[in-house]
Amino acid sequence: MDTTQKDKKYLGRDGPPSPVTVARTKGSYVFDEKGRRYIDFYMGWCVGNIGWSLDEVVKKVKAFSGPTYVAPTYVYKGWAELAELFAAIAPGELTKSFRATGGTEAVEIALQAAMAHTKRSKFISIEGSYHGHSIGAMSVGSSGFRKWYKNLLPGCHKIDIPLDEVAARKVERLLRKRDIAAFICEPVICNLGVVIPEKKFFTIVQAACKKYRTLFIADEVATGFGRTGKMFACEHYDLKPDILCLAKGVSGGFGALGATVMTPEVAKSFEFDFSFYSTFGWHPLNVEATVASLRYLRKNKKRLFKNGAKLSDYIQKRLGRMDFQHPVKINAKGLAIGVEFGKAGYSNKIIRNCLKNGLLIANATPTNFVIYPALNMTLKTAREGMDILEKCIG
Ligand code: PMP
Repeated sequence: MDTTQKDKKYLGRDGPPSPVTVARTKGSYVFDEKGRRYIDFYMGWCVGNIGWSLDEVVKKVKAFSGPTYVAPTYVYKGWAELAELFAAIAPGELTKSFRATGGTEAVEIALQAAMAHTKRSKFISIEGSYHGHSIGAMSVGSSGFRKWYKNLLPGCHKIDIPLDEVAARKVERLLRKRDIAAFICEPVICNLGVVIPEKKFFTIVQAACKKYRTLFIADEVATGFGRTGKMFACEHYDLKPDILCLAKGVSGGFGALGATVMTPEVAKSFEFDFSFYSTFGWHPLNVEATVASLRYLRKNKKRLFKNGAKLSDYIQKRLGRMDFQHPVKINAKGLAIGVEFGKAGYSNKIIRNCLKNGLLIANATPTNFVIYPALNMTLKTAREGMDILEKCIG
């Protein structure tokens, strides 16, 4: 049996895999087992923000001689350093980090901390959104999950897009009963194909959350670490969340790591026996890789963000000139770029054609595709990728 046959026989999946057998990754390229090169406009859905297999991080990971494992109850230098780093870069007053293995767990911790802090159990989130695959995360995600899982959390209100003043007033009305533990949202919604809420939406929602003592959870699992042109998408809106969920781009893909960063007040409410435990949350090797990735990102921030802005402009201009077969709307914030057709089917055809021609892109919903390149992709590679895309839209 070859790899594809074994995959088919032994791996559980939600559907057939994308037909690329990945052997190696470097920078903005993925190589398959036969050595074929693909340009990566997907980067594992906002994971590889600093490009794959970055030498600086590879060196650190290879040289790591720390402990194989540290049980969560001990003290470990890497944890203290990483938590200090998060406190330095997180928006608002967020200084306490809880250790997770990835995005779903980071969101789960956030929901639980909000319940513990407010002594409430209801939530508000955005209809169609995605926050992970645990029962809690799916409860605040798309209502579509309820078709398959009948016992998701009750009391989860969903707000439909567009996220404008009307939507904000709806949130405000729901908050008046003072029974909502938290409002949770991606500040720029990558999982809906890059939906960019109006500034007024967040101004009203943030003020209302404060007034009715509902916590504001920013899920920056996808948008964090430069994806939208700022370190965190919260910065576009001057958002000061009570809890921030991080994962994906945090380690540049080198390790499985998530974090739930919160204010000291919320963290205090979460200090009861067994409120939190994660055996592999912040595994030492993942911490080493994460600290190295973040140090690289911070040290080269100016250059990377400038390059990201240039790439974003270029990609948007090229998209704007393309002769798509259906009316198109381009949504972009930095290198979170969504191409929306409002009609199902077409984007999937484009994605399949691109793959055949050596370009990796993905879709968020059946009516769009998204482009999430690395911040350090060269303009030459971007041009090559856009040339392939242009060939594949007919
Ligand atoms: N939140 C958001 C916004 C995400 O995009 C994702 C993953 N796509 C998650 C949470 C879940 O993260 P993970 O797959 O690491 O559990």
